[in-house]
Amino acid sequence: MYRTHDCGALRMEHVGQEVTLAGWVQATRNLGGLSFIDLRDRYGITQLSFNMEVNPELCQEARRCGREYVVRAQGIVRERTSKNPNRPTGDIEIEVKSLDILNASVVPPFTIEDDTDGGDELRMKYRYLDIRRTPVREKLIFRHKIALETRKFLSEQGFLEIETPYLIKSTPEGARDFIVPSRMNPGQWYALPQSPQTFKQILMVGGMDRYFQIVRCFRDEDLRADRQPEFTQIDCEMAFVEREDVLQTFESLMRYLFRQTLGIELPEFPRMSYDEAMASYGSDKPDLRFDMKFVALDGLRGGGFQVIDNAPFMRGIVVKGLEEKFTNKEINDLTDWVKRPQIGAKGMMYVRYSPDGVKSSILKFYSEEKLVEAGKAVGAGPGDVILILTGEKDAVLKQLGDLRLEVARRFELIPTSVFKPLWVLDFPLLEWDEESGRFFAMHHPFTSPLPQDMHKMESSDRETLSSIRAAAYDMVINGAELGGGSIRIHDRTLQEKNFELLGFSKEEAEHQFGFLMGAFEQGAPPHGGIAFGLDRVCAIMQGSTSIRDYIAFPKNNQGRDMMIDAPSEIDPKQLKELGI
Ligand code: ASP
Repeated sequence: MYRTHDCGALRMEHVGQEVTLAGWVQATRNLGGLSFIDLRDRYGITQLSFNMEVNPELCQEARRCGREYVVRAQGIVRERTSKNPNRPTGDIEIEVKSLDILNASVVPPFTIEDDTDGGDELRMKYRYLDIRRTPVREKLIFRHKIALETRKFLSEQGFLEIETPYLIKSTPEGARDFIVPSRMNPGQWYALPQSPQTFKQILMVGGMDRYFQIVRCFRDEDLRADRQPEFTQIDCEMAFVEREDVLQTFESLMRYLFRQTLGIELPEFPRMSYDEAMASYGSDKPDLRFDMKFVALDGLRGGGFQVIDNAPFMRGIVVKGLEEKFTNKEINDLTDWVKRPQIGAKGMMYVRYSPDGVKSSILKFYSEEKLVEAGKAVGAGPGDVILILTGEKDAVLKQLGDLRLEVARRFELIPTSVFKPLWVLDFPLLEWDEESGRFFAMHHPFTSPLPQDMHKMESSDRETLSSIRAAAYDMVINGAELGGGSIRIHDRTLQEKNFELLGFSKEEAEHQFGFLMGAFEQGAPPHGGIAFGLDRVCAIMQGSTSIRDYIAFPKNNQGRDMMIDAPSEIDPKQLKELGI
């Protein structure tokens, strides 16, 4: 027998019992006549003790054990003389009677501690060692809980988990597909799914009116910090529903997950249109943990100051009560920050309402009274600062949105352990791309327009088409998009029309999506759904900034698996067989 208990199990009540434990050597300590081993497994750490006088051979054996050796120890549970209150097993130790080294270990390349000295790449290369560390292990356990609770909740609501294929034909979600050659059909290729979108819709046509799947999705995107080429979605679809039904169902799911795993009751999920989110926060996923809504500052217009008078668009944010912190150095620093190419602003104006009068980059052009008055109109007074950007509308909104977040970060205005959820609704259906001179689907091509905007689909005017709102929604928590979905088109004619607006020829649409449009002619029910990023849900719930921590075997920023060293070249023989 390898073990009677795990390394986290033993307490005072076990004192006197004979036990066998197995695990990894976390640390050894030799104190003259006594030796100790901290023995670790998934469940905890238990102290093993050896006495030189009682059993010198055994003690020597213990001293031979290096870090990460795998050992089995058999002995008696004793109360410790010096207890460790920081460890659940800290009241006891095992007086070891026999010790077996089950496997030796080379010295690990980094320390297996909560705070390790290993860099990202090294830890990914030796991921099995990283997984032995408590923070990584705990995150994988949390992910398991979320997946389990999701399955419980959705099953209770009548959802069926149904698997869809990984070898499919391309499903456009706005990224590139990973493709897989077909040996049996030379010259032909499968694509890995970016999501099971069309399959879940087909399941609705098949009458499986509540579907979900915890499913891997693949997107060949340029990797940004928080993206992985393969990631997991909680993918869901429902038939005979309106938008409201979907919002209610998945708000309940999220409430349930927070309650079950964190013991937290989420507050109200306010709803905000895409237009409002952009106008007020310059983002379609605003972080509502802090305020700083954009203000218009119309009072400064028409005062003769060219930069403002001629600006196509101007918005500001009011930073309450932090005037003192906006020293010249800080202002210069922030100005440089907004001028970085990633942000792209031309400059930044400021108005400080300080105890010794107004300080401002535009004081030459406005009287102090005028600036006080303009401040008052937007709720800024003594002790406050207004930061102002001007330029083209879309650019200013985006830049000011970034500045709002940066200011909040710099001055620590974002409360931790607070969750601010919201639904963002009414996204545009179509997005014009200047470069390619065509529309793209903002969500995906299967998203239905809002009923009240349906008539605009017949228009040929770009403005009118751009103003069509989609029955699409995103769930946002703390400035991160946790999931998104839409009510779908279930009518062939409308789907054809949408493909046409997206620049598909009739033949292309038929070739790629004939199966779906064909299914729409065979009694397709109204339907809609949503998908959540499981990795992201876990990260946001635990206040982590990285989804990578929640993936057992993540890829690095180059999309590389450092442990198995993939992607890699393959044997010419294999290529030949594939006809490549
Ligand atoms: N398939 C969509 C996505 O992956 C989600 C949905 O519309 O249900 O974003």
